[in-house]
Amino acid sequence: MSDDDTPLWLFADQLSPRIYGGEHAHREVLLVESTSALGRRRSHRQKLHLVLSALRHAEADLGDRATLIHADTYTEALRGYGRPVLVCEPTSHDAERFVARLRRDGLVAEVLPTPTFAVPRAEFGVWAGARKRFRLEDFYRQQRRRFGVLMDGDEPDSPPVGGRWNFDTENRESPPKGAATLDVPPPFWPEEDDIDAGVRRDLDAMDLNTVGVDGPRLFAVTPAEATEALRCFVTDRLPLFGRYEDAMLGGDWAMAHSLLSVPLNFGVLHPLDAVHAAERAYRDDLAPLAAVEGFIRQILGWREYMWQLYWHFGPEYLDNNSLGAHTPLPDWWSDLDADAVDAECLREALDGVRTRGWAHHIQRLMILGSHGLQRGYQSRELSDWFASSFVDGFAWVMPTNVIGMSQHADGGLLATKPYTSGGAYINKMSNHCRSCRFDPKKRLGPDACPFTAGY
Ligand SMILES: Cc1cc2nc3c(=O)[nH]c(=O)nc-3n(C[C@H](O)[C@H](O)[C@H](O)COP(=O)(O)OP(=O)(O)OC[C@H]3O[C@@H](n4cnc5c(N)ncnc54)[C@H](O)[C@@H]3O)c2cc1C
Ligand code: SF4
Repeated sequence: MSDDDTPLWLFADQLSPRIYGGEHAHREVLLVESTSALGRRRSHRQKLHLVLSALRHAEADLGDRATLIHADTYTEALRGYGRPVLVCEPTSHDAERFVARLRRDGLVAEVLPTPTFAVPRAEFGVWAGARKRFRLEDFYRQQRRRFGVLMDGDEPDSPPVGGRWNFDTENRESPPKGAATLDVPPPFWPEEDDIDAGVRRDLDAMDLNTVGVDGPRLFAVTPAEATEALRCFVTDRLPLFGRYEDAMLGGDWAMAHSLLSVPLNFGVLHPLDAVHAAERAYRDDLAPLAAVEGFIRQILGWREYMWQLYWHFGPEYLDNNSLGAHTPLPDWWSDLDADAVDAECLREALDGVRTRGWAHHIQRLMILGSHGLQRGYQSRELSDWFASSFVDGFAWVMPTNVIGMSQHADGGLLATKPYTSGGAYINKMSNHCRSCRFDPKKRLGPDACPFTAGY
């Protein structure tokens, strides 16, 4: 066991008050800006901004408790610091191996379980047992029961609120006819401060392999900002979240989505806080059940499920390529060159990634992922592309979303069917086709829609 005053080392995706507060509130906190880690792989410029901004804001918030070390590598930082540290289980296979080595070298005193997800990893192993096929619905219902979320009563056989577990059918509306934007209040926008200005200056001066453009910081990176972002979402936007969850509008990049993946993935927002806030909105009659269930399904269902399956399937899962997809990614795709694209739906999604490092779920799945699937893009390269190009991309979230859900490269371990469509679906769910030079109904000819032709 560690000494009681052993300091706590936090990676940039572990900046959670649940880690450094409570029983650990007396400990010193070590934060590291590692130049090697920043430059290890290509990253969206705005993702690097978020990482440094989150670390430096954590240092400012923690005051005298925190030491932020700038070093080439984590090892160099820990050696320079001179005291063994506690660290929570990191969030990737590579980082887990690295931390195990640091422990052998005496630089890490103890590895603690990570409290930044709702379901403990050991518990998932019991649920998974000897299963060969994994279906979200089974896992999700178990978590609703376990955490007593949207349940009518607390007996083991209590029914779900509203008598149904699933409101997906109510959550698939086309966008309002003729609308350029959803009639919904804007999301929370963080105010940039001197820390952000310093981060921008430092990144400008560094020689890093980035993709995408710089832009104002759009996502919460501190617990205070995350609380405000969650409050704004639940109060203003959650009521419309479900209905238009799958809809796309050219003039409205955020639609009624929560924009909470960044604070969740950095650890500054706990998933159960988001789930409980949404349930409260339903119980207080401030949001309809279908919207609230749809949102809770994303967090307590999909997000937890993807995290757990990342560990369960292991690092080899990334090598799956059951559909034999071997096309190398074209340069315009890798470089996010949206101007090189004629297909309006694809241009819009790629432009969102270039401009903000973000696109909403249906663009990731049914536009970007579907394009990759139809063109046979090499699955692992595509997974790396998503990780590099998105501000919320982390090692744990990519394999199951890209290899499993989007590319069906795992032979159906995770999803019953590949997610792809022709132009008819995109035309129904968006306003893109109206301004596109292709015709969603045509499969052949110069104006054939590439999605219809590829389907
Ligand atoms: C091909 C592909 C790649 C993706 N890459 C990422 C990624 O790099 N990082 C990431 O966090 N999510 C990823 N997702 C999941 C999802 O698209 C994003 O979490 C979501 O679009 C983020 O926007 P939001 O916060 O407004 O989400 P909302 O639409 O408001 O949903 C609420 C929350 O649910 C969670 N969530 C929903 N679905 C998933 C899922 N399948 N996996 C994990 N979390 C989920 C997210 O935390 C999200 O913030 C990916 C999905 C696909 C199909
Ligand atoms: S016509 Fe086809 S390519 Fe153009 S926006 Fe519609 S679905 Fe996309």
